[in-house]
This record gives sequence, C-alpha cells and structure tokens, in this order.
Amino acid sequence: MNFDIPITIALSKGRIFKQTLPLLSYAGIEPLDDPDSSRKLILDTNHSQVKLLIIRATDVPTYVQWGAADLGVAGKDVLIEHGGEGLYEPLDLGIARCRMMVAGAAGAKLSGDRLRIATKYVNAARNHFASKGQQVEIIKLYGSMELAPLVGLSDLIVDLVESGNTLKANGLVPLEHIQHISSRLVVNKASWKMKHDTVIKLLGAIRQAVTANSKFE
Ligand code: ATP
Ligand code: MG
Repeated sequence: MNFDIPITIALSKGRIFKQTLPLLSYAGIEPLDDPDSSRKLILDTNHSQVKLLIIRATDVPTYVQWGAADLGVAGKDVLIEHGGEGLYEPLDLGIARCRMMVAGAAGAKLSGDRLRIATKYVNAARNHFASKGQQVEIIKLYGSMELAPLVGLSDLIVDLVESGNTLKANGLVPLEHIQHISSRLVVNKASWKMKHDTVIKLLGAIRQAVTANSKFE
C-alpha cells in the first residue's frame, strides 16, 4: 500500500501489539522499533507517513475519539467502558480473545440482596445485572479483582477469563458468562471522512489479513 497522507494508529503494548503486528504486516506496515525494548511512545514505520502510538489499552479509544490517532486497536471490554463516542468500529480483528465472566467462590450466589460486585468493567457489569433484574452495588477496581472476594470486599467479581488459571490460583471459579471479547479496529469519525480512500484501503488489507488468520484456526 502507498500512504500519501499521514496515518496514526494507536495500539497498546503486550498482546494487542503482538497480535496486531501480523495484520499490519499484511497491509505492508512494519514498525522500525520494538515497544518492549524501546521507550519511544511514537514508533516510526517503514512508511514515513505512518506512525504507531504506544499507549495504555484503556486510553486507545480516547486518543482515537479526539483525533490524536486516526485508527486504533482496542478490546471490546475497553470499548464498552469507553462508550464508543466519536468512533466507528468497522472490524472485529479476532485477536486477544477471552470471555467476560462473573466469578466468585465455588457455590457463591448469583442473586440475592445487595450483591456487591468488584470490577474494572463497571458499565458491562451494571448492564449485565440490570438485564437480569438483579440489583447490585458495583465497586470499581483497577486490577487484581480476584482479591476482592477473598477479603470480603465483594461477593463476586466481573473479570476477563482466558484459561481460568488466575481464578483457580485464587480459589475462585467462573460462574456466569457475560460475553465473548476480542479486539476491534476503531476509526475516528472525522478521519473516516477526511482520509476516506486511505482508511478504506487499509481497512480492506487488514480485513484480508483477518480472514487469512481465521483460516488457520
Ligand atoms: P494493563 O495490563 O496495562 O493494566 P490491560 O489489562 O487493559 O492493561 P492488556 O492486559 O494488554 O491491557 O489487555 C489488553 C486487552 O486484551 C484487554 O482490553 C482485553 O480485551 C484483552 N485481554 C485481557 N486479558 C486477556 C486474556 N487473559 N486473554 C486474552 N485477552 C485478554
Ligand atoms: Mg492486563
């Protein structure tokens, strides 16, 4: 692909960066630095016009919403909490897959009076219990949710589960499935209009990569 206008793509380090790289590579984009060894927050690529921003996963939709990045890759969990304002979400990348679950001690009750739920995913948790007509008190945490039921901070947690090993290591079990999570390509609404041809071409190349990826599964 040729890039005759500047394109900025927001990504987080770790699993999203690692799993997005092959998709970008399919579109002919190769970063010139590795975010794990470099401290740079703006990575140059083999295309002088294409830059990658390396930011916290939860900040990706915010950068894209405000147009500081044209595109971004963010987990559906993060997008639910952000709300999606100012963004299009045209493509499920099928990467960083996991499940959002209610978890707790084995046999913990999923209904009852004033259940307390500790979670980083306040909106998702509220929607989930509201849809069941279950009143809950949500306690916002920023990480290590597994601890909350162990020390009586909450009855249950809402967290992302991949293998279930982290829950198990803390004596917890998954109790209820909320939804499947994967990462999505998001596009700033103004960039979608103003940089339409380039965005559409890039989207097409990444879509092909996703299709090719899914054939290996
Ligand atoms: P940080 O770890 O810096 O606090 P984070 O947990 O949001 O931030 P990552 O751990 O890199 O960042 O997760 C990024 C995204 O990957 C999440 O938003 C989610 O969509 C997905 N994810 C999180 N945990 C898992 C997991 N165990 N397996 C697969 N995907 C996951
Ligand atoms: Mg994490």
